[in-house]
Amino acid sequence: MSGLFDLSGRAAIVTGGNGGIGLGIAKGLAAAGAAVAVAGRDATKNAAAVAELEALGASAMAVEVDVVDEASVAAMTEAVSRRLGRIDILVANAGINIRKPPETYSLAEWHKIIDINLTGTFTCATAVLPAFRQAGGGKIITIGSMSSLFGGGVIAPYAASKGGVVQLTKSLAVAWAGDNIQVNAILPGFIDTDLTREGRSSSPQMFAKITERTPADRWGVPADLAGTAVYLASRASDFVTGTAIPVDGGYAAQI
Ligand code: NDP
Repeated sequence: MSGLFDLSGRAAIVTGGNGGIGLGIAKGLAAAGAAVAVAGRDATKNAAAVAELEALGASAMAVEVDVVDEASVAAMTEAVSRRLGRIDILVANAGINIRKPPETYSLAEWHKIIDINLTGTFTCATAVLPAFRQAGGGKIITIGSMSSLFGGGVIAPYAASKGGVVQLTKSLAVAWAGDNIQVNAILPGFIDTDLTREGRSSSPQMFAKITERTPADRWGVPADLAGTAVYLASRASDFVTGTAIPVDGGYAAQI
């Protein structure tokens, strides 16, 4: 690929890159020419994702990380800098959800969701800052949700974390614009992954209702996120920062 969207010579970290949306984005960045570090807690899943990327001709590496652990995040950036020689792109995608009524969450469950989804995004973003400054700039892509825009009866901590991700994105964008670092969020709609699988199988009615409410008349797949991620990782978006782009088949447009 050449021109505005070319990522040749660039190195990217995708947290939660070993499956679902993260792997869809990793494939997109790799197809645009980036070397990709797949970062997740599960070494076996990381290795399988790297094998998938390499089978597509990509340059990829696996790195174990738990985004709630500051030392583990620091070790991740160090390992990637050492192996790939640079870091130009961070996709802070790692995330979890636990679905139930607000009053039934333990404080430990609340903290777990906020820590991985929101604090983990902050920790990873600040960890790549020195490498970005050294390289003269960089791109951070955070992953929000439709729940960055509205709440839901069984996702209180998730929606709180994803609302926070958007405000964090805007704040980092303002703070680091002078360093030539662009920080933008992608807000996925309803995407077919492990995260949504349990809800879909326990409530086929909900699955059908979401399809019906999505103007595109289908659930998304991880590959649907790749194009927007490549755009936000490339120089095509050098004057775009602090935005949150829904990739949702039109779902948010009708709210
Ligand atoms: P998956 O459950 O398929 O993937 C989640 C990924 O996050 C896994 O790779 C997992 O790897 C990683 N992960 C979880 N916890 C940690 C941690 N503490 N440290 C490092 N990695 C971690 O979910 P999706 O692909 O669906 O979700 C990806 C992102 O997209 C999330 O932020 C989610 O909130 C968001 N999103 C998803 C939507 C959907 O409809 N699917 C809609 C809107 C947003 P491992 O277990 O190996 O650590």
